[in-house]
Amino acid sequence: MSTRKPATIAVRTGIESDTQHHAVVPPIYLSTNYGFPAFGDVPKYDYTRSGNPNRGLLEQTLYELESGKGAIITNCGTSALNLWVTTFLGPDDLIVAPHDCYGGTYRLFNTRAQKGDFKVLFVDQSDPQALAEALEKKPKLVLIETPSNPLVRVVDIEDVCQQAHQVDALVAVDNTFLTPVFQKPLDLGADFVIHSTTKYINGHSDVIGGVVITKSEQHAEELAWWGNCIGATGTPFDSYMTLRGLRTLGARMKVHEESSAQILQYLKSHATVGTIYHPSLPEHPGHQIAIKQQSGFGSMLSFEFAGNFEQLKTFVGALKLFSLAESLGGVESLICHPASMTHRAMGETALAAAGVTQQLLRLSVGLEDVQDLIADLEQAFKLALEEN
Ligand SMILES: *Cc1c(COP(=O)(O)O)cnc(C)c1O
Repeated sequence: MSTRKPATIAVRTGIESDTQHHAVVPPIYLSTNYGFPAFGDVPKYDYTRSGNPNRGLLEQTLYELESGKGAIITNCGTSALNLWVTTFLGPDDLIVAPHDCYGGTYRLFNTRAQKGDFKVLFVDQSDPQALAEALEKKPKLVLIETPSNPLVRVVDIEDVCQQAHQVDALVAVDNTFLTPVFQKPLDLGADFVIHSTTKYINGHSDVIGGVVITKSEQHAEELAWWGNCIGATGTPFDSYMTLRGLRTLGARMKVHEESSAQILQYLKSHATVGTIYHPSLPEHPGHQIAIKQQSGFGSMLSFEFAGNFEQLKTFVGALKLFSLAESLGGVESLICHPASMTHRAMGETALAAAGVTQQLLRLSVGLEDVQDLIADLEQAFKLALEEN
């Protein structure tokens, strides 16, 4: 089983498992409760907050994809992160998180730390000195997010895990941007993988969800206990929908990647494009680490628009096949202006420190025909440049 490739695991898990009607695709179980076969005979599922067949099947598919031992599906990616820190941290415990982590993760950890629930330190994990100093404080947990958003910075997972384990910290990798098709953090030494399944895992921009995947059964049990205790678990319908989206993960990631490579080629040749941020580019600071730990470069990329700000607005407004929207990883292509959208809450100083300029645009390359996507970019650049 474990030698199967991701595309096969994603498609086959649970197929033909229905013993009642032999449905090829497993049915959806919306019932909130399940009968006890006999007095005192506790069934596998009794109440949906604690367990449900559709959620269970999605969990199994995801932990097999990540080569883990267990998983807990939550109602969103943020609650997966919240479940993880709730399970493992007390008031005296420290978590070390990336300085450029997802905005919602920053807000969650910061707010809960201010309430005294635990301590948090945000550090640049690609700075060996800063990382070493943070680890000297003996954190209980370390969160890695690679590639980061929106500048797709890359962190060496194996290296950070080794250093963190020397001080007995447990490490989770937020693998939302690459999925197990392109990156397997547990194989690189991590103890947990976290996803916002809202993005590539579901892949169709129509379900919010999350997951914590564990390397050990013991950690999975602890997380499942807390997931039930605080009511963080996902619904049967969302689990069914997410597994339906996940079925095509292998095929989707391939096309996302191929189209991104062609769009990068096009952008490189365009005079109105400044610095491009993508780990596939040899000049990207994380290029060598990406080659070492990733089996694909992913389809999130950013670039500096090299015209004036009015031209940038015309460009974005003229695009017909890139929707101006937040989020990422769906079949539809998106464009985002991080400074006024996903990262606007950071404020000007923090934006500047993170390298997010007003000229920065982020693309989530979708599954439309890539020639159509390039033609769309081309007509929008033309229109923008007609202005002065
Ligand atoms: C979207 C996202 C999250 C949060 O997930 P939600 O499903 O929106 O709660 C966490 N990490 C990363 C990297 C994300 O992109």
